[in-house]
Amino acid sequence: MKTEISARLFEEAQRYIPGGVNSPVRAMKSVGMPHPLFVARAKGAHIWDADGNELVDFVSSWGPMILGWGHPDVIGRLRVQLDLGTSFGAPTELETELARLICEAMPSVEMVRMVSSGTEATMSAVRVARGFTRREKIVKFIGCYHGHSDAFLAAAGSGVLTLALPDSPGVTHSTTADTLLVEYNDVEALSAVFAERGEEIAALIVEPVAGNMGVVLPEPGFLEACRELCTRSGALLVFDEVITGFRVGWGGAQERFGVRPDLTTLGKIIGGGLPVGAFGGRRDVMETVAPLGSTYQAGTLSGNPLAMAAGAATLRVLAEPGVYERLEALAHTVAAGLTDAASAAGRPFTLNRVGPMMTLFFCQGPVRSFATAKQADTQLFADYWMHMLESGIYLAPSQFEATMISLALSDDDIARAAAAAAAFFGG
Ligand SMILES: *Cc1c(COP(=O)(O)O)cnc(C)c1O
Repeated sequence: MKTEISARLFEEAQRYIPGGVNSPVRAMKSVGMPHPLFVARAKGAHIWDADGNELVDFVSSWGPMILGWGHPDVIGRLRVQLDLGTSFGAPTELETELARLICEAMPSVEMVRMVSSGTEATMSAVRVARGFTRREKIVKFIGCYHGHSDAFLAAAGSGVLTLALPDSPGVTHSTTADTLLVEYNDVEALSAVFAERGEEIAALIVEPVAGNMGVVLPEPGFLEACRELCTRSGALLVFDEVITGFRVGWGGAQERFGVRPDLTTLGKIIGGGLPVGAFGGRRDVMETVAPLGSTYQAGTLSGNPLAMAAGAATLRVLAEPGVYERLEALAHTVAAGLTDAASAAGRPFTLNRVGPMMTLFFCQGPVRSFATAKQADTQLFADYWMHMLESGIYLAPSQFEATMISLALSDDDIARAAAAAAAFFGG
């Protein structure tokens, strides 16, 4: 596969942009690529890089492109909005349309505020939780990602009940000292944290299906325990559904697993490929947000009309009957193809999947936490990733990310992915 033009574009980008990329995982370093692929265009489930290589996409821009690229409804509404105006800094009916769609899909979300990224959504949700409870501590799970705001950049540090240390220079100890860390699915450790500090905890934030350490499922009783501990201690339960919202079902993970959070954060799919985030939840909590209440939160481009139009168009397509059944069927076929290929080779592997998000871990399972995910053979994953790329299959360039299924994938696309995986494991 020729990638000379990408290599040249990367050279130039690095002169002006740190590392040549605007988000670190795009650098593709962890899979041993000397440079990232520069994308020229995409249509349906196919992406063309700058050198003209055509790839079948299983990344979906990290989640948002669940319809694939160029869906006529999304493009149609964007075209109309371009002529009407792209930003006003004043309310539009579009914001209410998207807000209503979200509230209808997720009954726990009684009111919702739009922002421009998932990072802003989680950052704001925690501020609101702290303001509402008048408490300062938050609890997060090791390996869960909630965007890059300071309080969440604490996931390193092993073990349970440890006070978090900053993951990044520039994040102060005092910020992360208010973040308590627990291993995912570890109900015992979580109970211990609440027993010890329950009165100080403003919020427990959780990815109800973890997607940022690779896909890790909540074990039976885990989300219920989160709910119960929060209710008993007066802390707010925040579901970070930035990935899972409108992906694992119309009502998100909260519908799929039947647990009702106090606050929910959203992003990715609700922007239909444009920059959007949102946080919402209980009316009494959301009523504390300015200008109704005194917890400050704002944004020049919040509720941007282009983003609202793309998001609303996307959700309307997803609301059609049979959409999630079709996604489930596509995802099932992909998973079966990968499982068959890996099993035939007798390699240790674990496939974790919830609906149209999955990860093939290169280790013996079960993978149920960050500690167990870390046992994966990342070198073998890098070889696999490169082989798949050479076969025209574009996967997320990290063992610790999710394979995203879009509605635009054809049977032929899926058969090609299965054949490529079979060739890797067979050879
Ligand atoms: C992607 C993601 C975020 C951050 O969203 P950005 O739009 O990248 O800021 C937060 N939480 C989860 C679960 C995510 O997957």
